Amino acid sequence: MRRLLPLVFVGLLALGLALLPEFQVTLVNNIGLYALVAIGLVMMTGVAGMTSFGQAAFVGLAAYATGWLGTAGAQLLGLAGSPLLPWLGLLLGLAVAGGVAWVLGAVTLRLSGHYLPLGTIAWGLSLYFLFGNLEFLGGHTGMGGIPPIELGSLSLVTPRPLGVLIWAVVLLALWALSNLLDSREGRAIRSLKSGRVMAESMGIDTGRYRLQVFVLAALLAALSGWLYAHQQRFINPTPFNLHIGIEYLFMAVVGGAGHLWGAVLGAALITLMKEQLQDWLPRLLGASGQFEVVVFGLLMLLVLQRYADGLWPTLSSLAARLLPGLKAQPAAVTGPDAAALPQPALPPRGTTLLAAREVTKRFGGLVANHKVALDVRAGEVHALIGPNGAGKSTFFNMISGVDDPTEGEVRLMDMPMVGQPSRAFAARGMGRTFQHVRLLKERSVLDNVALGAHRRGRKGWFAAMLRLDRAEEAALLAEARRQIERCGLGAYMNDAAGSLPLGAQRIVEIARALAGAPCVLLLDEPAAGLRHKEKHQLAELLSQLRQEGLCILIVEHDMEFVMNLADRITVLDFGQVISHGTPAQVQRDPKVLEAYLGGADDLAGAALAEKAAA
Ligand code: ADP
Ligand code: MG
Repeated sequence: MRRLLPLVFVGLLALGLALLPEFQVTLVNNIGLYALVAIGLVMMTGVAGMTSFGQAAFVGLAAYATGWLGTAGAQLLGLAGSPLLPWLGLLLGLAVAGGVAWVLGAVTLRLSGHYLPLGTIAWGLSLYFLFGNLEFLGGHTGMGGIPPIELGSLSLVTPRPLGVLIWAVVLLALWALSNLLDSREGRAIRSLKSGRVMAESMGIDTGRYRLQVFVLAALLAALSGWLYAHQQRFINPTPFNLHIGIEYLFMAVVGGAGHLWGAVLGAALITLMKEQLQDWLPRLLGASGQFEVVVFGLLMLLVLQRYADGLWPTLSSLAARLLPGLKAQPAAVTGPDAAALPQPALPPRGTTLLAAREVTKRFGGLVANHKVALDVRAGEVHALIGPNGAGKSTFFNMISGVDDPTEGEVRLMDMPMVGQPSRAFAARGMGRTFQHVRLLKERSVLDNVALGAHRRGRKGWFAAMLRLDRAEEAALLAEARRQIERCGLGAYMNDAAGSLPLGAQRIVEIARALAGAPCVLLLDEPAAGLRHKEKHQLAELLSQLRQEGLCILIVEHDMEFVMNLADRITVLDFGQVISHGTPAQVQRDPKVLEAYLGGADDLAGAALAEKAAA
């Protein structure tokens, strides 16, 4: 049933292109051209969380590239009149826009926060002025005489046949990108939105993915620019101005930030609205002045105020209510035939898998970790405890690549790891959870856990776009389901992760870590927020994992939980190891008691003291 809506859309589109008067066909074509750019922005902004105001510049780069090649360039190369010119122009346009995006992206994407949007404004402006100032591109007057696109013997001079090409490209892009989003690579792209730390510790090279998404958006803009140049057959810098770049962003955001079809909706709404406003406002307000810009801005504010996620989600839930059959089905993947993922063999029990030596971390004058040493072996649960502020989370960051120690050595599976990013730790078999849960809250539990299996898949973007990854995807999802069931979350499989109680969200993080087939598991306060029975189940799960030979390091405040579960305990206080040994040894250690009783507000300490006294 979900396939029905696109089909209805294509049917209406075909009727429109065939029957509407030529003037309106041009309007439909323009919507397609805008939609292409907006689709790229949905990927970038809505899905991957990067904002660009500068997409119009990429449209311009490709338009100018193909425009130049079709005119002056053709003379220069002795290709004048060749029907191949527009197609060579397409290649040139994609290469130029893609290449520039690659270089700009490599520079601007490193900037975080507001710097990225500001950066895109800067390059949007500079490219616009560049177009206007280059004499060989016609300066501000522009360049004409661009040849039409030739398809075999058919010359696409009129809007109707060109419209077929434009919309074929749009629909193809929608198809390929919705395939991409529904895959392992799509999950990785979505994870970018939640910041670097979580995605990297799932083994995802966030820098590379950000750059790839950025180049992808630029290539879509370039396709639009190429089609535009051969539709108008004349170009000047105006349509590639920064304020058009802002309009593109409006289309993506108003339509539906994270929804591909929202880009089409946004492009249509804004194009039609502009058209109407340009018609009506001069009649209402007198002929002079560009009032539509003002009215437009106000309408935009209203829409965004009321529908923060864009109009698409509202519209599709309305449609789902009217036509119950349309309601989104949970992904119907994996039968029993999904192949199992290869399971890496765990190192023999008792091998030291994770070792820290003399790890020191200073934040300015504060020594958060001072010469901390610790090793964890296969088949044991090692607990790291200590009062609040003792440096436990800092130490976790040191041994998982989130941050680098000021001094000291960290070895994972016998490899020196200092200076390596988290994804290198993941690649060597580390899985982890976070003290402050880091899940993609709107995505399903299944989706979140499948992200953990990312590094066990191989298929890339093209395979995903063309649906050549289905066997691997089924295997990844089957693995995710298995881990979810095993962690007792089967009932939540298709629920949004953010809708679960916080304790259950922590367990989702454990399932996600397990989906990566780790040898070493780091858990930062896994039992926080769990009820008594759930803690019991968690302890059982961890015991079972230990039994299987995993190496588990946990930070936990619940002393009863720790004392019953851990094989060995290391106690930190003020950044230093003050005690380590078996639970019994540690509980009797006077230094430990003092540390805990010193922090009188610490309930865990009180519990520990009680237990020791008993
Ligand atoms: P724990 O997890 O044991 O409660 P933390 O490792 O979070 O303790 O913190 C240890 C100490 O280091 C605290 O005094 C904390 O304020 C300080 N600290 C942690 N992270 C930073 C940071 N990024 N910059 C400065 N100080 C920090
Ligand atoms: Mg902490």
